[in-house]
Amino acid sequence: MTNETIKSKEQQRIAIVGAGPGGLTLARILQQHGIKTVIYEREASPSARQQGGSLDIHHDSGQWALSEAGLLEQFKALARYEGEDFRLLDKTGKVYMDEIAEPDGGGRPEIDRGTLRELLLNSIDPNCIRWGHKLDQAVALENGMYELHFENGQIETYDLVVGADGAFSRIRPLLTDSVPAYSGLSMVELYLDNVAVAHPEIAAFNRRGKLFALSDHKGIVGQLNGDGRICVYAAFRVEQEWLDTCGIPFDQPEQAKDQLLEHFHDWNETLRNYIQSADGPMLPRRIYMLPTGLKWTHKPGVTLIGDAAHLMSPFAGEGVNMAMLDAAELALSIVKHTDINKAVEAYEEKMYNYSSESAQESYDNLELCFSDDAASKLAALMNSYHEQP
Ligand SMILES: Cc1cc2nc3c(=O)[nH]c(=O)nc-3n(C[C@H](O)[C@H](O)[C@H](O)COP(=O)(O)OP(=O)(O)OC[C@H]3O[C@@H](n4cnc5c(N)ncnc54)[C@H](O)[C@@H]3O)c2cc1C
Repeated sequence: MTNETIKSKEQQRIAIVGAGPGGLTLARILQQHGIKTVIYEREASPSARQQGGSLDIHHDSGQWALSEAGLLEQFKALARYEGEDFRLLDKTGKVYMDEIAEPDGGGRPEIDRGTLRELLLNSIDPNCIRWGHKLDQAVALENGMYELHFENGQIETYDLVVGADGAFSRIRPLLTDSVPAYSGLSMVELYLDNVAVAHPEIAAFNRRGKLFALSDHKGIVGQLNGDGRICVYAAFRVEQEWLDTCGIPFDQPEQAKDQLLEHFHDWNETLRNYIQSADGPMLPRRIYMLPTGLKWTHKPGVTLIGDAAHLMSPFAGEGVNMAMLDAAELALSIVKHTDINKAVEAYEEKMYNYSSESAQESYDNLELCFSDDAASKLAALMNSYHEQP
């Protein structure tokens, strides 16, 4: 006899592994419907880690999820609609697109990742989050339940385990052998502090939103954040080992900046200044992705949302929106169905469809942004979207 024949939906114990945007949105919506969950997060506290750059939250996915979470109005008060400004250049500084956000607000306003996390965290019963719980492995039991083994030695048993634990999910191996593959892109993340005062010429050049400069299979991306910083990504189409073999000492930022700039020696001076003027530490990152259209055979008692389910490159700005959409779809399916496993199965079928479209778009955009003549190709693609009725 399995656990589902013994317990009603309300009696089932639900664990969410990971307090990212996906896990938190899921917990919040279920809480809104009186369904309790426990979230396990490896970070020691909400402030343990710098949360990183700005995210655009899309009307029909991320914003819809926030509306189901009862947080849309609070989000709108925090969102930066002017952050939709977008500039596209090549390495010479030639401008291909210079979009100014609509004053009455477009469909993809920006919010800092830290601000979004705070909004979600403040909406959740703090007793349901267990900080400092890094999952080591999840084990399927004969009675249909799952045992969660944490690195701190704790072991807990649940009827439903939701893996919201991102790119290198420890829950994913219960459902599929697929692992993330290197996408061909490596990036170095840097920050310019207090740009309006400290770097007014870069602030004026970048404007209020995002700037993409693309040439020679490389890129410099600038993104104004709500805290007055510009988050900069220096991006390279390179082999997987490059960050280790390029010889750049990423832990010594001043030296590393000089060596990074050698890779942009023939780029426009203002674009080079995004790197030259950066403050503080830098973070090298490899971009990974799961196979587009990944599916698994449904198993009672376990599922995945967000990056754990469909890790994709960030070049369509879909990752966080998909994570929150998954959370809302799964939560509402659990609310609607009497049988929790039917709820999970219905969610998975729906998720496969929409997430594979976004993953394909993200992959296509990555290929385009780091191909020959990338700036003019991206401009043509974006203009074609604007021309669609
Ligand atoms: C450089 C970069 C830029 C990006 N820019 C954008 C963008 O502009 N727009 C966009 O939509 N997306 C962007 N993304 C993608 C976006 O960040 C992710 O898609 C999104 O954060 C996924 O949310 P999630 O909740 O599924 O996972 P995550 O945000 O990865 O959250 C997972 C959580 O699980 C926790 N965790 C992990 N392992 C364990 C464990 N073993 N035990 C317990 N807890 C664990 C982590 O600490 C984390 O809190 C970007 C990604 C990168 C790398």
